[in-house]
Amino acid sequence: NLSDKLQRSFKHLRGQGTISDENIGEALQEIRLALLESDVNLTVVDELVSHIRAKAMGTQVTTALSPSEQIVKIVHDELVNLLGKDTAKFKTASQPPSVILMAGLQGSGKTTTSGKLGQWLKKSGHRPMLVSVDVYRPAARQQLAIVAKSIGANIYEGDLKGETANSDLVLRLAREARREAANFGCDILIVDTAGRNQIDSTLMDEMAQLKKLLNPSEILFVADAMTGQDAVKSAKSFHDLLALTGVVLTKMDGDARGGAALSIRHVTGAPIKFLGTGEKPDAFEAFHPDRIVSRIMGMGDIATLLERAEEKLDRGKAEQFAKKALSGDGFSLDDFRDQLRQIKKMGSMKSILKMLPSVGPFAGMAQAAENVDEKQFGRVESIINSMTNKERQDHEIISGSRRKRIARGSGTTVQDVNNLLRQYAQMRKMFKTMGGGGGIKAQQRMMS
Ligand code: GDP
Ligand code: MG
Repeated sequence: NLSDKLQRSFKHLRGQGTISDENIGEALQEIRLALLESDVNLTVVDELVSHIRAKAMGTQVTTALSPSEQIVKIVHDELVNLLGKDTAKFKTASQPPSVILMAGLQGSGKTTTSGKLGQWLKKSGHRPMLVSVDVYRPAARQQLAIVAKSIGANIYEGDLKGETANSDLVLRLAREARREAANFGCDILIVDTAGRNQIDSTLMDEMAQLKKLLNPSEILFVADAMTGQDAVKSAKSFHDLLALTGVVLTKMDGDARGGAALSIRHVTGAPIKFLGTGEKPDAFEAFHPDRIVSRIMGMGDIATLLERAEEKLDRGKAEQFAKKALSGDGFSLDDFRDQLRQIKKMGSMKSILKMLPSVGPFAGMAQAAENVDEKQFGRVESIINSMTNKERQDHEIISGSRRKRIARGSGTTVQDVNNLLRQYAQMRKMFKTMGGGGGIKAQQRMMS
């Protein structure tokens, strides 16, 4: 991915005393390749690289930063500049209901994102209503109804009265939905639209008519980050016709590391407003340019990680666990299961590991993320679930015959149970040692 490639090109500069034409040439060439291979548009790449070169050559070498650090900083700043320095505001109309029009190709994530956005708006005190104007596919309208129900948002389903599915019906449904939202005291109407595999004139016509009718305060283009250059092309077509107000990049939990973000922003000029990071309604976050750039460059995204932890984790519980784990008694399998459940709330292990920097002490973690077996968590939990309370409190009573019973109960093997117990015992011991004057505490004393 882009981050690994950039890291490699920065390595070339390490240990060099100054930035010279010669040593930067090679690094720039690699940065260029790294960006191109990560779906960043050619014009964007050339522009970026020439900016970076100009800045780097003008940089005084007397600063405290090494040449490679200086280049990293320059590249970082240039990418942030390209994406726009600040998090883009979400606009609403002065006269409710504000309308949000969702645009994009089929499968890009419009329906899923409509739900995520609804949930996000609800959390910030709005009362959203959802409507699907995809009259061509009953299943699409059903899908939105299910999504709306799962987040507890209002939905306008309307009555199609067996009418022919065409743009007139689409517009009628949209008009009714807006009236219904106003009647229901909903301040925001999210309009999920039909998608096509390819841009065609009927679809585009319909989108233009919807825009004219609804005068939306946001026209969000939903782009699948995994589709790279294709997403960039369709973004441009939609933008030329509709003047997009923002972009939502979905499937950022996959391998795409943001090259498309850079290109779409450059080509349309529309700011990226949100990221989709999974299939569930809460796998959704506001887009912060500096954070994604850090992620792209392999500097990790600790800010997002902390935010997620703050939101999902119970601080009191975590502190209790730490206290107990470091004490002479150690933590029980019950406590262990509790911690596992907490971590699971933060999202998939893969998405967590990916937010760590891919340099320094975390080098290799992002790669490790590729090999994480998410099911392993579930297995560990079911093994602990199959234990009796007594066993969870005192792992030493878990004899061979008990292990067999637990394996049977949890649908695992005795070897799985053995592995878990061994790992648990190791961890427990490690924590106790740290608590007992050796590890962290001694270190803390040294620091203070
Ligand atoms: P639409 O045709 O544009 O309405 O797309 P959908 O909302 O139906 O999404 C298409 C598929 O992509 C579904 O299987 C979604 O669960 C999946 N999807 C949408 N957003 C994300 C995301 O951010 N991450 C992942 N992993 N999957 C997503
Ligand atoms: Mg859909």
